[in-house]
Amino acid sequence: MHPDSKSILLISMPFAGTSIPSIQLAILESYLKEREINIKTRHLYLKAADFYGLNNYNFLIYPPNDSYTAQMVFSRYVFPEHWQKTEDRFRKYFNENLSKNKDIQKQFTFEHYVQQTDKFLNWILENTDWQSYDIIGFTLNYGQLLPSLAVAKKIKELSPDKKIIFGGSRTTDLLGVKILESFSYVDFVVSGDGEDALYRLASDYQNYKSIPGLMYIEGNEIIWNESDSFVDINNAPIPSYDSFYEELKTSSLEVQQYYYYNGRLPVEISRGCWWNKCSFCNLNIQHKKYREKNVDKIIKEIQVLSSRYKILDFQIIGNTLPKTDYRILFERLKELGKDFTFVAEARAGQLNSYDYTLMKEAGFTTIQTGIESFSQHYLKKMNKGTRVIDNIAALKFCRENGIINRYNLIVDYPNEEPVDFEETKKNIQLFKQFLDPPQICNLRVLFGSPIHRNPEQFNIQKFEYAPIDRLMYPQEFLEKGFNFVYGFKRKKESSGNDWVQLVDEWKKERESSEINGIKKQTTIDKLIFYFVDGGNFIKIYDKRNYGSIRIYVLDELEKNIFLACMDVISNHDIQERFPDIPSNQIVQILEGFEQSGIIFHEDDCYLSLPLRCNTRLVHQPVKEEFLLVSD
Ligand code: SF4
Repeated sequence: MHPDSKSILLISMPFAGTSIPSIQLAILESYLKEREINIKTRHLYLKAADFYGLNNYNFLIYPPNDSYTAQMVFSRYVFPEHWQKTEDRFRKYFNENLSKNKDIQKQFTFEHYVQQTDKFLNWILENTDWQSYDIIGFTLNYGQLLPSLAVAKKIKELSPDKKIIFGGSRTTDLLGVKILESFSYVDFVVSGDGEDALYRLASDYQNYKSIPGLMYIEGNEIIWNESDSFVDINNAPIPSYDSFYEELKTSSLEVQQYYYYNGRLPVEISRGCWWNKCSFCNLNIQHKKYREKNVDKIIKEIQVLSSRYKILDFQIIGNTLPKTDYRILFERLKELGKDFTFVAEARAGQLNSYDYTLMKEAGFTTIQTGIESFSQHYLKKMNKGTRVIDNIAALKFCRENGIINRYNLIVDYPNEEPVDFEETKKNIQLFKQFLDPPQICNLRVLFGSPIHRNPEQFNIQKFEYAPIDRLMYPQEFLEKGFNFVYGFKRKKESSGNDWVQLVDEWKKERESSEINGIKKQTTIDKLIFYFVDGGNFIKIYDKRNYGSIRIYVLDELEKNIFLACMDVISNHDIQERFPDIPSNQIVQILEGFEQSGIIFHEDDCYLSLPLRCNTRLVHQPVKEEFLLVSD
């Protein structure tokens, strides 16, 4: 070990999920160990699940609840006077908003929630060896601020010489400054990559004032060494999940089994986002620069982790798939010939039908595409950089390849208009019978997002504190400005659109047609809208209008034009593919398809809608530039 260096204990608190280990701890542990720093990491969210009971813990953190709300009980330790004065309000909130599940409510009462939190905190103080470390660090995501503050405060009370450091998405940029201003027992905050800042703090503590990315207090002032330096993720060591597995071994059988049945190891493929322009997203404050691991490095990490921990299930950590090398990645994973499963986030408009088939063969079973809307008008407000046609294509390719897509529909923008709703309603009529429905995600304004920085452009008169924040934080702390999410008051009120009803009807329709498909076991009842290839003709079966079936038979030319639209294609490219066919004839055929609802048309692009029921029909893209994406 480094002879004069400080020793570090790094903690991840509840309310992180127990099925995916904290990648932040794993990355930092291996980075610092490689540099001979004495570091220990603790995945204490596993222990919290034991104290609350796994079912109750999952109930607290998964929809309709979330980890942000789950942390409210820790307000009791961070703001004890506030808790004493308002305990009844916490109880009421828990009973009315949080605990809607009557079965769980019977045994997991508010009193139990408080009692178990108390026991859990005492357990941490008595059973984690924090006394042996000089620096105690906390990685903070969405729902970990209050739990981390509660432990940091206690440690500082018991041992004022310990240095407390916070890092992670919840403390990035100005949020970190505000947190340092507000909580005197936090000594340092790292904004951005934590690896080097933590290493330098441990190895060269006396010079902490020169560490890039570090925030610290000097007199009454907060100093933030803003920096453009970034860690090279291609040279980072492979993350170590040893501590996670050690912690898991000491957890209840229930928590262990849950992980072994549902768990995934995170593999980081990139940091930041190459698009980085969506108006609701605040990733820009966390990672100012997009970086991507090369495919060799990703493959090596997956192989090493799989063999070291005997696991085949991975969570890809990256806000999008690799910008250009995604196909090489899928091919290399496929070549490994293992029964991997991957869950990843993706961007619409990036991959074509061939890529989705390759992705499925590589082991990608579930993806979350950043769909957000089926209205072109709304997507522009979001500055998503994708089109409705790209969104439909992504869902169609997923359905054809049996990839689950868990995507969101973002609604309740401050400048939402009736046209956003009407356009969505009209567009989904074409595919809601056979493509899976979204989850509704009501917009909450994130600190540092373009909406937060430019409220007037989005019809916002003023920001408001979220009800849960008004409950968890005393008024004087609310005003310190470290809140991560905000509500808003509109300048001009909008009439409100019934998104819930729209999506509920979609869900019900899909559920009943799924059941019908299982019962009847016919292709038409399973796929609803599909085509089969007869060589010089194609037959399209259409049961979108429930109760009646339409069959379209396309002749050879129609077939070829139809197949050209399996991927999103522009009018210009179709014309280029059929140089011998007069352009007005092509346009006529396309118009006929559009009138029958066989293709979706947006601007000058087309996409066929029926599902292919045979992956043999996947073809390599004609033009390689279709694979490239631009900023
Ligand atoms: S929402 Fe996704 S695509 Fe948009 S900026 Fe954020 S990370 Fe990038």
